[in-house]
Amino acid sequence: MRPETLAVHAGAEPDAATGAVAPPIHLSTTFAHGPAAERIAGYEYQREGSPTQDRWETALAALEGGAAALAFASGMAAITAMLETLPNDARILIPDDCYTGLRVLAHEFLGRRGIVATVVDMGDLNAVRTASAGGIALIWVETPSNPRLQVADIAALAQIAHAHGAALVCDNTFASPVLQQPLALGADVVMHSTTKYFGGHSDVLGGALVFARRDAHFDAVAHRRYITGAILSPFSAWLLLRGCRSLPARMAWHCRNARVVAEFLARHARVERVNWPGLPTHPNHAVADRQMRDFGGMLSVAIRGGREAALAVASKVKLFTNATSLGGCESLIEHRASVEGEHPTSPQDLLRLSVGLEHPDDLVADLAQALG
Ligand code: PLP
Repeated sequence: MRPETLAVHAGAEPDAATGAVAPPIHLSTTFAHGPAAERIAGYEYQREGSPTQDRWETALAALEGGAAALAFASGMAAITAMLETLPNDARILIPDDCYTGLRVLAHEFLGRRGIVATVVDMGDLNAVRTASAGGIALIWVETPSNPRLQVADIAALAQIAHAHGAALVCDNTFASPVLQQPLALGADVVMHSTTKYFGGHSDVLGGALVFARRDAHFDAVAHRRYITGAILSPFSAWLLLRGCRSLPARMAWHCRNARVVAEFLARHARVERVNWPGLPTHPNHAVADRQMRDFGGMLSVAIRGGREAALAVASKVKLFTNATSLGGCESLIEHRASVEGEHPTSPQDLLRLSVGLEHPDDLVADLAQALG
């Protein structure tokens, strides 16, 4: 089945007890069992699993073409659960451009277990090969990356990882499974901040891991989630299921709007560079064209004149809201360097745009007046 159909139908069977077409939200934390803890309907305690969450995980796994999925309380909880299963003193590769939380987690927390996270430009396969020499346990890729929209060749990275007996994990948050299916390209695990496009309405926090195989590693991560408690609430699972149903329709609109905005910005004299993989001038356009169905609703832009010029544009927008996060209906703009803490890695002249579902001409008009 195609993504549009799966998004609507996966995990969407009418409720067996009532025939309800919209899924029920089961809030119960505990489930009746037999005197020797015999499970009656397969459930015991919400921290381990629950019916609404099961539906959501079924939908996620189907959309990513995976064997099984695990839902988490946030994207960071999913990343943490994944990396916590690494052995002490493991070597891993992380992208030079990625969500700040991954970098902070790797350096502040994984280091305490002797895990070395080497930062690599994932678009430079020779650099990845060189950094892998000596052995690695995992390559983490985020493509397109946050906030510079770099695109990495997932199939090539999977080959390098597998040659070392390592796993390739792909953060697919920016693309969503509608635009890109990393497992089909050889990745072992897909990670999502479901807070973004899956939720789609800036009102639910969640994360997910989707596994190519339901193996011992899946069991280890599931056990860790159960014991450490980074579970998604049933209400959040329900909101994510609801968001999932319209994901393909929303993604098509996000992509269409982003193209109009990117092409406008690319022509503007005050703009130094537009990072959107759909532009033929994007350095990784060919890879993006090969492995993505469309190019997404996220873009970033370097404003001529540096930090002050970028902040001046961000302060003049009226329709775009200055806010963090992405993937909602409303368009957002953000000076990433200002929100990345003490040691920002984003360029000071860079603004990140989450292009929403408004009419593209209104978005262009807003940016035109803000750029002056
Ligand atoms: N991955 C990417 C690409 C992100 O943009 C984010 C958050 O912005 C995360 C992971 C972390 O997700 P969450 O905020 O849901 O914990």
